[in-house]
Amino acid sequence: MSDLTYFACGETSHDMSRLLRGARRERRVFPAGAFLYRSGSRRVLFDTGYAPPPWRAGPTGWAYRKMLPPRVGAGDTIAEQLDPSSITHVVLSHLHPDHIGGVRFFPHAEFILSEGVRRTLERPRLRDGLLRRLLPAWFRTATVLPLPEFEIGAHGLRTADLFGDGTYLLVDLPGHARGHLGALVEHEVLLAGDAAWGRDLLGAERRIRPLPRLVSHDMTRQRETAQRLLAAEQAGLRLLFSHDHHPAGRNLL
Ligand SMILES: [Zn+2]
Repeated sequence: MSDLTYFACGETSHDMSRLLRGARRERRVFPAGAFLYRSGSRRVLFDTGYAPPPWRAGPTGWAYRKMLPPRVGAGDTIAEQLDPSSITHVVLSHLHPDHIGGVRFFPHAEFILSEGVRRTLERPRLRDGLLRRLLPAWFRTATVLPLPEFEIGAHGLRTADLFGDGTYLLVDLPGHARGHLGALVEHEVLLAGDAAWGRDLLGAERRIRPLPRLVSHDMTRQRETAQRLLAAEQAGLRLLFSHDHHPAGRNLL
């Protein structure tokens, strides 16, 4: 028996007309999603959502909060929605604040980081949007699982079989951030992270305005990733994005 469940760990909102050319002037809410895969004794968490306030993350943190104001209410953090000590593995899709805020709750988990994410940790650039103060001091010496080799797999996606049994494949989804990762769970569902801000925005990359474009690591590759994901979806793969609304407490597999 295995299952995949979703948690909204805080949210932000953004005026769509500032994000996309031709979009209506309306504020859209983007939950900060995390996904838990349970199988046997494994508890694999994909991303960790927002950190509880206050952030104390310096001027960059202030600028981020101006642009994408986070709302994290009572009961919203990942640690309040599951038992952190039960988590065996944490996959970080990338290092943006809405994905790493809950890292602090998992000192005993093994972390899974792509090569690009490790490089960003070592030498962050401004556009990487890394708020290091959101990460706990122990994270520097956290257990990081060595990654298996990536190879071209189903749907032409580059995948790496995390546990060697086909249940959980890391997927290289380049563009949004350096080393941006997705996860293909039991060949059924692809956790697509921030490959798009939401399913309905996948394929609309050309309409993204200059300012939000700046936070994208590589817009050309982001467009290519989007096309690959659209084709995979056509072929029957289910895509779940981090900032869409999903039903909580239900098995998504
Ligand atoms: Zn992101």
